[in-house]
Amino acid sequence: MDQTQAIWIRDPLSILADGAERGIVVRGGKIVELVPRGREPATANAVAYDAQAHVVLPGLINTHHHFYQTLTRALPAALDRELFPWLQALYPVWARLTPESLHLGVTVAMSELLLSGCTTTTDHHYVFPAGLEDAIDIEVAAAQRLGIRVLLTRGSMDRSQKDGGLPPDSVVQDEDTILADSERVVAKHHQRGEDAMVQIALAPCSPFSVTTSLMRATATLADKLDVRLHTHLAETEDENKFCEQMHGCRPLDYLEQCGWLNARTWLAHGIFFNSGEMKRLGKARTAVSHCACSNQILASGCCPVCEMEEAGVSIGLGVDGSASNDESNLMQEVRAASTKGSAACVGRPELGEIALGKAADLALFKLDELRFSGHGDPLAALVLCGAHRADRVMVGGNWVVTDGAIPGLDVSELIRRHSAAARAMHAG
Ligand SMILES: [Zn+2]
Repeated sequence: MDQTQAIWIRDPLSILADGAERGIVVRGGKIVELVPRGREPATANAVAYDAQAHVVLPGLINTHHHFYQTLTRALPAALDRELFPWLQALYPVWARLTPESLHLGVTVAMSELLLSGCTTTTDHHYVFPAGLEDAIDIEVAAAQRLGIRVLLTRGSMDRSQKDGGLPPDSVVQDEDTILADSERVVAKHHQRGEDAMVQIALAPCSPFSVTTSLMRATATLADKLDVRLHTHLAETEDENKFCEQMHGCRPLDYLEQCGWLNARTWLAHGIFFNSGEMKRLGKARTAVSHCACSNQILASGCCPVCEMEEAGVSIGLGVDGSASNDESNLMQEVRAASTKGSAACVGRPELGEIALGKAADLALFKLDELRFSGHGDPLAALVLCGAHRADRVMVGGNWVVTDGAIPGLDVSELIRRHSAAARAMHAG
């Protein structure tokens, strides 16, 4: 698409922005004009896109996910289990990931996200069995093909069962390998600046699968490379108990001891913080990704979102999964919990809002399905009646979803190959 061409998204049915009743103009990947009621665009030669049937939202931002888990959805061995036994049932299956199956799993997850109106997503990839050393490179290539903005995290695990951790030896790596590869993927893929389409963060998996030495070394490396830090924390009572037994303190104290309690970090879940800990998080400007559906399925508990926001913590939304959700539909998470801190989680203040100078990342929804019939307000209807699928999605000024589909993506063929790869993994 010609980025110098201005596009006027004209006369939306509704739009989540003030003073843009007649729409917005985008050019060069950014929002360059809001067109108020009764006015025409001041931008010359803007080509109009008629949005009279559309509700226009800022593109949604997914702050926590594990793309590869689309290959292990609704797996009988993992159903009706809480986090620790759920993980123990799945680790041996995940150990069978290959470059080809990862590519398919990632493509499915990102496609689902795009079709739900998501324009920026994170991914937390922490399973590195032998042969899957290029996992992050595979993810970058898939994101670039689909045109979605990503913050991919180079995850890691180095505490296996023989060191008192939860995962088997087959899915962990040693600290030197992890740190060297973290440096490599940041150098190769991490883009800086407001236009960045691909960014990398560093993400040891959780207190029960990572050594203290790796936690500390990763924080030091993130400082040196100036990239963000991510991990799971305070997801379950089991984790609290593990932390107290292994480290003699609660998870947040442990995080602080490891040099992580700062604005560089965002945490997945954050269910079991007490009020003093919430204040410490707010003061440190550490953000939290809330994964409502995943927490419900694993019966982990409920993240105290309102209390946390009052303590000054930015809360973003995450689909998590897809083995604990088991879908990648971000609009459904908005229905489960409305928050607006996702841009802060990913450290991208230029995203997540329809305003002058912000990125032209947009999700356009139609209200022509049964579920919306009889509504009294288009914007509220999107959330409350449960919108599932965007009709059009724009990332950085480019249309990446049109008429509810991803141009050039053969969905039937993707389902066929992805299902076959999943079956091969389940069978072992
Ligand atoms: Zn997770």
